[in-house]
Parts: sequence; structure tokens; C-alpha cells
Amino acid sequence: IIQLYVPLNWLGTFYRAIQKNFVDMENMLNLLREEQEIIDAPDAKDLVVHQGGIEFSNVTFSYNPDRVILKNISFNVKPGKTMALVGPTGSGKSTIIRLLFRFYDVDSGAIIIDGQNILMVKQSSLRKTIGVVPQDTVLFNNSIKYNIQYGRIDALDADVIVAAKAADIHDKILALPDKYETKVGERGLRLSGGEKQRVAIARTILKAPNIVLLDEATSALDTQTERNIQSALATVCANRTTIIVAHRLSTIIHADEILVLNDGVIVERGKHEELISRKGLYADMWNEQLKSLELTPKPQEMAK
Ligand code: ATP
Repeated sequence: IIQLYVPLNWLGTFYRAIQKNFVDMENMLNLLREEQEIIDAPDAKDLVVHQGGIEFSNVTFSYNPDRVILKNISFNVKPGKTMALVGPTGSGKSTIIRLLFRFYDVDSGAIIIDGQNILMVKQSSLRKTIGVVPQDTVLFNNSIKYNIQYGRIDALDADVIVAAKAADIHDKILALPDKYETKVGERGLRLSGGEKQRVAIARTILKAPNIVLLDEATSALDTQTERNIQSALATVCANRTTIIVAHRLSTIIHADEILVLNDGVIVERGKHEELISRKGLYADMWNEQLKSLELTPKPQEMAK
């Protein structure tokens, strides 16, 4: 219905904005089906997920022929494990996530989920399997309950509440003027960045996907909000195969594997301690972050 009222060129722009910024793409895409650039293979089957293991095998990709963005990327995320992607801006982290969601097809190599090449499966089944917590969540102009329930349209109110509690936003919602019926979004109550992210986490908890992709917000949150969000994220990632695009290295100390990308190439890989003792790019990034933390002490931390 929406499509009748919205000019098509606007949809195209919107689609590209989603591709670029990885904003709520899982759900918004359903509204934009006509605009998808990637077409299912004629004999595409539904992705059958048993455990959610992810494999990139020699993946090479460019947006434009004149510049290769990812070069021979190979990694394996075992079911239930967490892998973090780090690296300088423009190194290709988000591109890996976009390829996994099949916004674009690889030029060579393969992306395999539980033994199935994602080129050969229906996109709808792929996207059902993957939950996304984007950097910046766009809320619908509707009640906060609707915004959470969007993770699973047929969820009962009781399930919505359980998810909101797990995402640590239930108490906040009860303090709103109309509780779960409070209108949010551009035309309603504006939520803070941290609150919107928790709505996205609640949505994902409700969706209960096998695979979770997290695009960590670059903007700094205050220490308490950060802690709350970290514990909510831990809930959503528990026992799910998870890939995190990390900007703050402190959040990925416990990742099962960290891939360090530079200019589309994996330059280092390993666990936090291993990478620190290598004294390479990761160790440099870590030291940089420590330094900038020391330069801007938070009031709570100064009191310690
Ligand atoms: P950041 O930390 O800044 O988000 P990133 O590591 O996630 O960076 P990507 O977004 O994957 O980097 O981008 C990798 C490279 O691909 C960049 O040089 C970027 O300019 C380029 N790029 C990204 N999207 C497109 C696009 N749609 N068309 C052409 N080039 C693109």
C-alpha cells in the first residue's frame, strides 16, 4: 500500500541508504521488494539452518570495477561463536556484513551458511535467519510495542515484555506517558540513541535468529548506558553465531576470534591477548583507544 503513495525514485534512494548505512535493513527491505537489485536464482531453495555456521571462502568483491574492496577474505565462524571485525575506516568491515546479507553478490569465492552457498538460497529465507542490530535504528511512527513486535509480528504481548526486559528497556517503557502504547518515532516521542538501540535489541531477541550481526554505534554513550547495552547485547548474542563490527575494542575482548582488516585484506587474526602481544595494527589501535580514554576521563571514573 505504501508503494502507491511513495515515488519510486524515493524508494531507490532509500534502498541505497539502507545498503550503505546498514540501517534496519532486515525489515525495511520487506517494504521495498520491488527495488532489490539481487535476484533469486530460478531454482533457489529456502536456507535450512541447523546451527548457523558461517564461512567466507576466498571472497573478493568490488562495488566498481576500478577498485577491489575485499581481497581473498576467508574465515569461519563456528555455530554459537562470536567473531569481531575491526580495522581503520574504509577497510571493508561493513562490506563483509552487506555481502552476508546479500545486498551484493561476491565477484569470486563463496559465502556459505551451514554448507549452503547463499547465492543458491532465497533471500527471504536468508534474511529470516539473520538478525541485525544496526548502528542507528529507524523507528516506525507507531507505538513502542509495535516497534518491538516488528521482530516477530505474531508475538504475544507477554513475549514483547519478556524481550523488552531482556533488552533492559522495560522499566523505561513503563515510565513513558502511555507505557507500551506510547507513540515514538519522528512524529512521536524521540528516543535517545541508546534507547533506540535497545529497541533494536528487543526486536532481535523476539526474532530469535540463528545469526546475529551487530554494527556497533560509533557515538560514545555514557558509562551506565554502555554497561546496560553491553549486557543486553550479551543476551541477544548468547548461543548465536555473531559477527560484530566493532569500533570500541573494549567490547570485543572476549570475542572468539578478531579479524583485523586493512584495505580489504585480513592483516591479523586471533584473540585479543594474542593480537596485543603481536604488537601490530591491533595493538596500535588498542593503545590509541587507551590514550584517548585517558585524555577524556569521565567524572565517575575520576572519583574512583
Ligand atoms: P567504517 O569503519 O568507516 O564504517 P568500513 O571498514 O565498514 O568503514 P566499508 O563501509 O566496508 O568500510 O567500505 C569499504 C570501502 O568501500 C570504502 O573505501 C568505501 O568508500 C567503499 N564503498 C562502500 N560502499 C560503497 C558503494 N556503495 N559504492 C562504492 N564504494 C563503496
